[in-house]
Amino acid sequence: MDIAVARAWILAVATAIDEHADQLTQLDSAIGDADHGVNMRRGFTAVVAALDELSAGTVGDVLAKTGVTLISSVGGASGPLYGNAFRAMGKALFEPVADGDQVLAALTGGLVAVQQLGAAVPGDKTMVDAYAPAVATLKKALAEHRDFAAAATAAADAAEAGMHATTPLIARKGRASYLGSRSVGHQDPGATSTALIFRALADTVM
Ligand code: ADP
Ligand code: MG
Ligand code: MG
Repeated sequence: MDIAVARAWILAVATAIDEHADQLTQLDSAIGDADHGVNMRRGFTAVVAALDELSAGTVGDVLAKTGVTLISSVGGASGPLYGNAFRAMGKALFEPVADGDQVLAALTGGLVAVQQLGAAVPGDKTMVDAYAPAVATLKKALAEHRDFAAAATAAADAAEAGMHATTPLIARKGRASYLGSRSVGHQDPGATSTALIFRALADTVM
């Protein structure tokens, strides 16, 4: 991943969020406060504008700028969670080009940041349920010496499987947890946006 690919990834995320904003908000209306699509669209609109102004020297500059912009522009839980994740990724990638293992390490650092801030574990019906299997699958695929594009596609598939697997779960973190067992039967909005982020990565590096 070089600076141009990092930019293309984030722009692809912004496009995917824009296209799926209504779906994300609809999912959040079932088990939250009906703003996840609005939050994410506001955040990534601000990110696109911020990246336009940024002269990046490293891959990490692009991702760190994405993170701080999300933190400052999104009010909901997802803003600080994704913001911290992208900031952590940014800190890990301090060269103009990153290889697959470096991107894996950065994405892993992003997951650690989400879990440190939000204290969610897999099975809590959150973005972690898409993020954790995506990272685990990326790691396995790279260890099998698959090229990064194939590994990223496998990771996106795993994120989507994790997203679907949130439907029968009881939410234990975030607003949805207030519903207890009434959260069962609904797909988690944040796991859905995480799946979009990994699919955008796979599509970008193809
Ligand atoms: P809010 O709940 O503040 O309105 P959003 O609607 O933008 O924020 O985001 C909701 C999503 O955030 C949830 O679907 C879930 O995936 C994620 N989320 C909420 N709390 C946590 C947490 N503690 N850890 C991980 N993810 C969380
Ligand atoms: Mg919400
Ligand atoms: Mg909200």
